[in-house]
Amino acid sequence: MQVVLAKPRGFCAGVNRAISIVHRALERFTPPVYVLHEIVHNTHVLEELRHRGAVFVEELEEIPTGAVTVFSAHGVSRAVAERARNLGLRTIDATCPLVSKVHRRMIRLYDQGYDVLVIGHKGHPEVEGTCGQVDGPVAVVSRASEIDTLQVRDPQRVGYVTQTTLSVDDTEELLKALRRRFPQISEPERTDICYATTNRQAAVRRLADQVDLILIVGSKNSSNSNRLREVAQLRQTPAYLIDDAGEIDPRWFAGVHSVGISAGASAPEHLVTGVIDWLRRQGPVTVMEMEGEEEHISFCVPELDGEPTGLQPGR
Ligand code: SF4
Repeated sequence: MQVVLAKPRGFCAGVNRAISIVHRALERFTPPVYVLHEIVHNTHVLEELRHRGAVFVEELEEIPTGAVTVFSAHGVSRAVAERARNLGLRTIDATCPLVSKVHRRMIRLYDQGYDVLVIGHKGHPEVEGTCGQVDGPVAVVSRASEIDTLQVRDPQRVGYVTQTTLSVDDTEELLKALRRRFPQISEPERTDICYATTNRQAAVRRLADQVDLILIVGSKNSSNSNRLREVAQLRQTPAYLIDDAGEIDPRWFAGVHSVGISAGASAPEHLVTGVIDWLRRQGPVTVMEMEGEEEHISFCVPELDGEPTGLQPGR
């Protein structure tokens, strides 16, 4: 069996930063450290952090007054930040800086009187956080078919932002439809789909042309991991999303001579190694990594020397 590893794959700069913030908070403050929502969407990452004293909650009201609370990489709405302050929580913001950049553009457009559309998956924490940067109602658009029925105040003053982990291909189709309906639409200078999403999807697109089957390592609720699986399937290459090697079904490999492996931006590399080890146990394999984009992006992790100052709601 030939195994080809996608490049790049796995952890992105925002995930590295968010996980480091929780580790640092656990070192600096007496556990438990509370985290609102999953810090990143990966069951193994959560398990390790739980083991060290992190407690993941879905509602602020589950957190005792005065407890150290980390906001996840997906970001939170202004209302959530304000409620946390009113509840007396000591908050630390682990929002990915690339998500914060989308928030700033959202606020700017809204302040300039635009109707702002959020392109993304309804109910995803990042989309909820982005919508919640402004007071007014915000339309979330998930499909091109929703564009014709959108109600806006002035078709000349419409702008959009997108979720950072969307499918590059699907979004381009949706944006074409949006430009047809609103020719004057205000667009970001560069796409909001982040570098990590773009690079991982491009790598899987090329990988899909080289192999018989693709395994994507990532959790089922990870948006960017699901998109990687779809990218492979769109190129007619069977692809499976697995949390770890334990989810592999040997029947997938009938007639398969080459396997590609990639990992979502929130999946640790040791899980990829686990998949390779599983394949090795089935028979001889050769492993190579494809040529691909070198990533040199990293985000600094706050020192957390002082008391958590919190995320300031407002502008
Ligand atoms: Fe940030 Fe992109 Fe990683 Fe999300 S996938 S945490 S936006 S770098």
